[in-house]
This record gives sequence, structure tokens and C-alpha cells, in this order.
Amino acid sequence: RDLVAPDAEGDERLIEAALRPKRLDEFIGQARVREQLSLVLQSALRRNRPPDHVLMSGGPGLGKTTLSMIIATELSVPLRITSGPALERAGDLAAILSTLSEGEVLFIDEIHRMARPAEEMLYLAMEDFRVDIVVGKGPGATAIPLEVAPFTLVGATTRAGLLPAPLRDRFGFVAHMDFYEVAELEQVLHRSSRLLGLELPGDAAHEIAGRSRGTPRIANRLLRRVRDFAEVRSGGVVTRDVASAALNLYEVDAEGLDRLDRAVLGALLRKFGGGPVGLSTLAVAVGEEPETVEVVAEPFLVRQGLLARTPRGRVATAAAWLHLGLTPPPDAFG
Ligand code: ADP
Repeated sequence: RDLVAPDAEGDERLIEAALRPKRLDEFIGQARVREQLSLVLQSALRRNRPPDHVLMSGGPGLGKTTLSMIIATELSVPLRITSGPALERAGDLAAILSTLSEGEVLFIDEIHRMARPAEEMLYLAMEDFRVDIVVGKGPGATAIPLEVAPFTLVGATTRAGLLPAPLRDRFGFVAHMDFYEVAELEQVLHRSSRLLGLELPGDAAHEIAGRSRGTPRIANRLLRRVRDFAEVRSGGVVTRDVASAALNLYEVDAEGLDRLDRAVLGALLRKFGGGPVGLSTLAVAVGEEPETVEVVAEPFLVRQGLLARTPRGRVATAAAWLHLGLTPPPDAFG
């Protein structure tokens, strides 16, 4: 399992649950989203009505699930969690909607991957708080309307652009989550190390934060690897050098690029001379789905100034050649 893969699996979910901020004022970074959301919640509480539906867009590990939990906590209402891929049939969604309690928050992760019939049922539920249950088949089929308690939908997607417009338009508020600044990740790390009972000097936090790919989940994961390393090699004492040695051992590079990032850059440079090359060709070259390359690897590479998306395809920058220690062909960059 890749150390810097942005998704969480297995035991990690338990640790994540313990490290999750519970209230909006504990949530670090994303200042604009926090302020916007705080207004939405406060006015809903004042009117004593469920707030508008909220869509959160942003890469894995940036805090979408955490925020949905915070929304429910701040409103003092229950939270139901499901995901787009789990809603294969309209009936799967109807079963959830029909058992929601008044004001409940329904969180649908990866909402862009919901099946079409469920999606259509959701439109009606979001707008009119009712669903039509179709009974029977063919000409004898009838639609039985069913009331749904007023609820708040919180949808999460890796890219708002992946959602069909009619669904996107039914959200009253779209929160765009971006990569975190190094200083913000340092705060995340200090908070987590307090919770883990670990002493973390500022320069060690800085070292880990800089290699965390702008992502709190990765920061927390690297912190645990550094702690493991320190326990075995340095009597539990974490210093900047210990952090750096641990991360080198786990092959997290100085800019936090992971195996997929390096594979994408490597293919772009070595197989396609730096591009331009189309997304699907590049994805085949690294043996991944185009969506994974586009949603997981590229946003970070673009942000680091290593890759550019152009109308003619993906292109490596001069910094990319430098980062992988390669020499660009003489005609590159004009
Ligand atoms: P997503 O749902 O976007 O994949 P999560 O909400 O599951 O991401 O966040 C992953 C982990 O990162 C959480 O366990 C949480 O501890 C941490 N985290 C995310 N955002 C923040 C934040 N703003 N402040 C502190 N910790 C955070």
C-alpha cells in the first residue's frame, strides 16, 4: 500500500476517526469554506430550519467527510453516511430517504458515481422532500408518492465538474476544498501529535508538512510513520533529522510526490519526451484509469508547477525535468 495514497483503508479509518476535528472552530485551514459554511449553519439555526444542501468538491483526504460530520454536530442532528457506488438502484436510496428523521444530515460520498435512477429520485427528494416509488412493471406500473422528512444533503465529489448540471444546481452552496498550505499542515500535525501524546518540534513538523502533498490525511499518516521510526531508532524522540530520515526510508520525496505522481511524470518525460500527450495515452502508459491520473495525480503536479494541461495535451515543465534529474531535449521550451 502506498504511503502517500490519499485514500484511507482498514485500521487507518479508526485512527482517522480519533484525529478528526469535531467542531467547525477546530477545523484547520480552508478559511473561506469555513466562513461560508459557518454563515449557512448559523442562519439555519436561527431560522430553526435545515440549511440548504451542501456540495463539497475537492481531492481525497482534504476533509470532506470531516466537514460533513461537523455540519451534523453543529446542527445537533443525526448523520447518515453512504456513497454513490453503494446506491446502485433507486430502491437503495428510497430505503435511506424514507427512514431519515427530521433535519438529519445525509452524506453521500462520491456522489458523482451514483446510478442514474437513484440520481433522478434524489432530484425530487432534494427539491420537494418526496420520492415516487414505482410499483409494478410495464403499463400497469404506478408511482406511489412518499413523503421524506426535510433533510440536508451533503454531497462530496472529487470534482464538481463531474456532476450532471441538474444535480449540481440543486445544491444551495458549493464548498471548493483546495490543497492546504504548509503552515496549515503544520497546525494539523501539532494537533494530531498532541492527541497521540507525541512531542513534535516545529522544524520536524515543517519537514513532514512539506512532504504531505497538501493533504491532511497524508500529513497524519506520515506523522505515524515518523513516530514508528522514532520509537525504534531514536528512543521515541522526534527531531527534524529523524523525520527526514524516516520519510527518506519510506520513499516520500522532498516535494511529497508519491509513486503515482512520479510514474506519471516519468512516463511523460521518458516515453513522450515531455509531451504534449493525451490523458488516456498517459494513463495507459502508467497502467491506471484516466480518472485516477486526472483526479489524484494531476492536480498536485499542476499545483507544484511540474505539469501543465494544455489544449493539445499534458506537458511537462522545465521543473519536471529538473525534479527527476533528467535533461530536457534541446528543442524543448522553445
Ligand atoms: P475526505 O473525506 O475529503 O477524503 P477526510 O474528511 O476523511 O477527507 O479527512 C481525512 C483525515 O484528515 C481526517 O481523519 C482528519 O483527521 C484529517 N483532516 C482533514 N481535514 C482536516 C482539517 N481541516 N483539520 C484537521 N484535520 C483534518
